[in-house]
Amino acid sequence: MPDDFPQLAQIESSNPMAEGRTLFGLDAEALSALMLEAGQPAFRGRQLAEALYRQRIADLDAITTLPKALRQRLIAEGWQVGRPTIAQVFQSNDGTERYLVELEDGLTVETVWMPEGDDGEVGDDSDGEISQTLGAPGPDFRTWETNKPQSAQKIVRRATICVSSQIGCIVNCQFCLTAKLGLQRNLTAGEIAGQVLAVFDRHAVEVGRDRVNLVFMGMGEPFLNYDSFIAAVRLLVREAGLSPRRMTVSTSGIVPGILRFAAEQPELRPRLAVSLNAPNDTIRTEIMPINRKWPIAEVIDATRQIPLRSHERITFEYVLLGGVTDQLTHARELARQLRRSGLAAKVNLIAWNPGPDIPYSTPQPEAVEAFRSALISAGIPAYLRKPRGRDIYAACGQLKRTVES
Ligand code: SF4
Repeated sequence: MPDDFPQLAQIESSNPMAEGRTLFGLDAEALSALMLEAGQPAFRGRQLAEALYRQRIADLDAITTLPKALRQRLIAEGWQVGRPTIAQVFQSNDGTERYLVELEDGLTVETVWMPEGDDGEVGDDSDGEISQTLGAPGPDFRTWETNKPQSAQKIVRRATICVSSQIGCIVNCQFCLTAKLGLQRNLTAGEIAGQVLAVFDRHAVEVGRDRVNLVFMGMGEPFLNYDSFIAAVRLLVREAGLSPRRMTVSTSGIVPGILRFAAEQPELRPRLAVSLNAPNDTIRTEIMPINRKWPIAEVIDATRQIPLRSHERITFEYVLLGGVTDQLTHARELARQLRRSGLAAKVNLIAWNPGPDIPYSTPQPEAVEAFRSALISAGIPAYLRKPRGRDIYAACGQLKRTVES
């Protein structure tokens, strides 16, 4: 580790909530082992997993598939479900909701619900049939959307949930409000997956019917809390029944994390987004000091190790900072970088969302469009992510208010 980031080495072990009598966060196997230890048949563990992750029961005494005597005994021994709860809701004019999600130790973390999403998934095929219609004007986000032929009479909703992996962040991207918090602590797998299920409950999401994408792009750098992040993905896929193809994890370019991610089984691996934000190392180091440790070429090399599924693309997120990263020369340089990489790539452009005390400006709409056109002309698919929930500090890079509210 270089001197710039001596803290990185300790992050993986800073997980004060890893122990304790909390059931939420344990998978069916661990729950079965727990039941065997308690002198119960293993199938009780599977019943518990079904109750926690499929039926989303948050109160141990309400899990009526378990005998009452067993529930009482577990409660008497100090066991609880312990799923994170939504403590506060901020509602945007555009339908976005930002939540303060309360954890067992009383700390809060932020999660965002974006009805209709922010178009971050366009072009990566995660939305299957739906992505083919995205060029057409979308329905109002407040309404239910019919994505199947009317004859199928299957009403589904689209939404995206932005999930946090740490409280605060140590990466210190200069344009990000979360960076101002520093790192408070890592989240456990249960705390990461619990954000999703708490929001599912609030919106009565039906897994398998509603089209909800998950983006691990909230507070924190998921690859600096890799074990918990990937354990949360396993819980969401294996126990809650979600598809990893509807999940995207964003990294600021933590190369060892990308290499571990590349070795994950495809059926458990979300899509990858790399938060690139600059066309060259000089600018990137200025706005993302982590680039000193892992420069662009190393990040791209590591990304190339990921065996992509059919139609899968790596997303490169690019925050446009007015006058800093939004020039046409930058677009051309970025296109050259990506073409040289040989990766199946697409670029998601984000017009920077303002935050107090951050010395950048939002780019002009014409500059954003010119940037996007330049990428497209150079053969790089490029999309503009809609800003969602700016008025409630829910947009990209704005999640900080947790400890201030
Ligand atoms: S942009 Fe992401 S990685 Fe960078 S400081 Fe903010 S939360 Fe951390």
